[in-house]
Parts: sequence; structure tokens; C-alpha cells
Amino acid sequence: MFTSLVNLDVQTMIFMTSIDAILQVSMLIFLCLLVNQYRGIKTYTLGRFFTISSFFITFSRVLPLSPTLITAGLFLLMGSCMTCIAIAQFTDKKIKFHYFLILNLLFIGIQSYFLIFQDVFLFKTITQSVFQIVVFTLAVYYLLTHSHKSFISSARFMASVMSMLILSLIARIVVLIRNPPDNLYAHTEINSFSLLIVFIFTFLMNAGFVMMVCQRLYHDLHRTANTDVLTHLLNRRAMMRQLESAIDRFYRSDRQFAIILIDVDFFKRVNDVYGHDAGDMVLIHLAQILQTKMRQIDSASRWGGEEFLILLPDTTLIQSQEIAERIRTHVETNPTQSNIQITISLGIAAIRQHGNSLESLITAADRALYEAKRSGRNRVAIAN
Ligand code: GH3
Ligand code: MG
Ligand code: MG
Repeated sequence: MFTSLVNLDVQTMIFMTSIDAILQVSMLIFLCLLVNQYRGIKTYTLGRFFTISSFFITFSRVLPLSPTLITAGLFLLMGSCMTCIAIAQFTDKKIKFHYFLILNLLFIGIQSYFLIFQDVFLFKTITQSVFQIVVFTLAVYYLLTHSHKSFISSARFMASVMSMLILSLIARIVVLIRNPPDNLYAHTEINSFSLLIVFIFTFLMNAGFVMMVCQRLYHDLHRTANTDVLTHLLNRRAMMRQLESAIDRFYRSDRQFAIILIDVDFFKRVNDVYGHDAGDMVLIHLAQILQTKMRQIDSASRWGGEEFLILLPDTTLIQSQEIAERIRTHVETNPTQSNIQITISLGIAAIRQHGNSLESLITAADRALYEAKRSGRNRVAIAN
């Protein structure tokens, strides 16, 4: 039914699948050359190379049938193992290489037994599928249990593709048991179906892997572009975007917000007395305090040199004054690990009270900060 419906003859399928596999491995080689900051990409490409080699060994028929099947089967299993190892490497999982080695040796042992004592195509093919299923199940486990948030959706896509492949392999075993063909080259529905599985899942798995790489790259690039290298807080660009969104929310749904501008007091002196590196440590220390002392909805950024800006969504002037005071006291009473004690001055401004634009708000916070400095430092001030 299946073959006659779409008219898939085995020869054409072999040809199409081979061309497809070569094109995709070429694409993966190009990916290896382009992206080299993650582990696993080269292993994945090598794995796919082994997989298509197994395909060519099977269908070129240069060797007699039985050695062909064992060699091709081993290459196929090695390819799948490498795919699994690549996924483990890419997701930073710990792997035990000797388990994969044992699996491959066990496979050779069982296949040789079948070759010598029970040379039945069905046994060898089922063993092959069972080993593939074990390896792919392990890969799905790696994809679903890793701790990276940056490519979680594409990892789930990859896991679904591999799960469907596992189900197709199980379906294939069932059909093979019911209606075993003589060999892989026979023009039967099950052989066409098997080739169709290879054709579809090779494409989907490679697409899934490339998607994982792209998603991770995008995430890392995004983070680099928006994060301050020293303090790991948001940088000024990222904070500007957050402020613009806060302004939008204010115009759309009248949601109030406030900002706190912070400057370290006499920071030049810290650099002069303790050195620039110690000055850097002070900034990191201050950033950590900001992160622990602000609420979850707030966001802190390094606004410039030793200036920081905190955005407080849905917050009134009075509430922001309390938060600012809490931060100021904590900084004053908690010196750094190398016992450098600093103080900070803070200027507060709130939307509506200090104008309805971003410029007027930042100017007001700046004026308040200046006022805090002028009136003796180590204090919180609100713009007039
Ligand atoms: P004030 O109380 O008036 O703010 O005095 P101040 O000494 O802090 O004066 P000012 O704000 O003008 O000085 C900022 C200093 O911060 C100057 C600069 O060398 C230092 N600085 C800026 N960025 C960094 C940095 O990334 N690391 C270190 N260690 N120092 C920095
Ligand atoms: Mg300054
Ligand atoms: Mg300063």
C-alpha cells in the first residue's frame, strides 16, 4: 500500500538519501568552520560522517553481504554513539566513553555470533535497531535534563525528533518480525519505509542540531551585548531599553516607576590608595549588594564608570526612598573582603513627579545625586 501509493522504489530512495546526506554533512562541516566556541559540533559532524559512510558501505556492495552488514552496522552504531556523545558535550554533560566502547564491542560480538551461527537477516537487523534505540534514548535523556536555559526550546525539538525516530525504529522492528524481507536491497515496503525514516530523520536531526547551535549563539551574543563585563549587571544600552519599555507602560497603562542613580563617594581616592584592581573589586562588591538588596522586579545596571542606575517598576517615590536608604546603609556597614569601606550617594526621581519623559527623569535623578554629593555625600536625595 505504502510503496504503491507514493511509488517509492528502493533504488531511487537510496540515491536521494545519499545525495541528501552528502549535502547535509557538507553543511555541518561549514558549521564547524564557522562556530568553534562550543564543544560537540565537530563530534556531531564526525558522527554524521560515520552514519553516511555506513550507508555507502551498505549500498555500494563492494564487500560480500555479511561482512558488509557487520561493517556498515558498526559504522552506523558508531555514528549514533558520536551523535549522542556530541549532544552530551554540547549540553556539558559528563560522559563515560568506556560505556560507548563496551556497547560497540558487545554489538560486534552479537553480530559475529549471528553471522557464524545463525545467519538470518532479521536477527542482525533487529539487534542493530535495538542498539540504535539505546543510544538515542540516552541522547534524549541528555537533551531533556541539561541545565542550559539558552537553547532549551531547540533542545526539546531535537528530543522530540529523536523520540519519533525511536518510535519509528520500534515500529520497524514490529513490522520486520511480522514480515521479514530477505535482505536490505529487496524491493519491499519495509525497506522503502526504512529508507524514508533515514531520509526524514537525518534532515530533522541535523536541522535540530543547527537550531541548538544558532539559539545558543543568539543567546550568548545577546547577553554579551547587554551585560557589563566587570559587574555582570545590565549595561547602559540594555538599561536604556528597559527604561523605554517602562515609559511605554506608563503611557499605555499609567504604571508608575522610579529610578535611583548611584555614585560611589570619593572613588578616585580608592583607586589612588588601593590601586585600580582593588577599585574594580569594589565595583563588583557594590554590584552584588545592589542585586541582593533590590526586589526581584527591579533591575540594576552599570550606568558608567562608578555610577549605577536601578529601575524600580510599579514603585512610588516613598517606596523608592526606602529601598535607596536600605542599599545606602548596607553599603556603609559592609566593607569589601579586603576591608575597603566605601559609601555611596543616591539620587531618586519618579515618573510624573519629575516629568513625563525619560530625559527629564534622568536629569532629575542626576540633579538629586548632585544634591546628595553637595550636602555631604553618603545620603539619599530626591529631586525638587
Ligand atoms: P565623588 O564623591 O565626587 O563622586 O568623587 P569621585 O572620586 O568618585 O569622583 P568621580 O566620580 O569624578 O571619579 C570617578 C573615578 O572612577 C574616576 C575613574 O578613574 C574611576 N573609574 C571609572 N571607571 C572605573 C573602573 O571601571 N574601574 C576603576 N577601578 N575605576 C574606575
Ligand atoms: Mg562619578
Ligand atoms: Mg564618584
